[in-house]
Amino acid sequence: MTAHLPRFLITGTAAAGEPVALGAGEAKHARVRRLGVGAPVALFDGAGRSYLGRLESLSREGAVVRVVEELPERDGESALELVLAIGALKADRFEWIAEKATELGVSRIQPFSSAHTLAQPSHNRQERWRQIALAAAKQSGRSAAPAIDSPIAFDAVLRMPAAVRLLFAEDGSGARLDAVAAGAAAATVLAIVGGEGGFSADELAAARAAGCHLISLGPRILRAETAALTVVALCQARWGDLGG
Ligand code: SAH
Repeated sequence: MTAHLPRFLITGTAAAGEPVALGAGEAKHARVRRLGVGAPVALFDGAGRSYLGRLESLSREGAVVRVVEELPERDGESALELVLAIGALKADRFEWIAEKATELGVSRIQPFSSAHTLAQPSHNRQERWRQIALAAAKQSGRSAAPAIDSPIAFDAVLRMPAAVRLLFAEDGSGARLDAVAAGAAAATVLAIVGGEGGFSADELAAARAAGCHLISLGPRILRAETAALTVVALCQARWGDLGG
């Protein structure tokens, strides 16, 4: 467990016993946190590799960490491979989801455009989402940041493979999540949540035809971002590592 340690992002790999120079931004972080030489820290690459280390030097010029040991691959990651597909949202709401869903351990976030919502975020905006997810992975002690892909069409979401495929329907037609007959250890779950406009009747029919379970989140209509986080938490509790 290294989630409580100061965590620094590195590029490339490292090995036990070797020194790693932190990049300028990360070294600044170490200075701002007033870490002392010898302080235990964690290093991670955002793609599943992480290390335990000790701060060896810290100055205006930079910071060096001595690697103590490599941690198991994907340390801090849920065994559940959870893909959150989410309809188009206002950018700030999407940013909020990117941060919070990362903390809750989502593996991938796939935005989509649908009948009621059209997403065409700029390249810069998407890059910002990825930076937010990376920062949230760092803050929450993950070794991997979730991938955030460019938006695709709703039809393409329905073709994404997963052991369990769930679409959260706000129209009351869905079943309870615990009615989904899938064992304790579903390896991959695709969870589809609508954007601000929700789903059209045709989209719900297409999802059914594509083999998705339609699921209800209860009698209240949640905003898309509330629904998204609820869904990630429910899936982690059911199939992943939430709830001990
Ligand atoms: N504008 C729509 C609501 C969209 S809510 C309307 O007023 O009908 C955004 C998304 O959150 C929905 O598409 C759905 O995926 C999810 N959601 C919200 N409340 C839900 C509920 N009670 N059950 C299942 N999904 C829900």
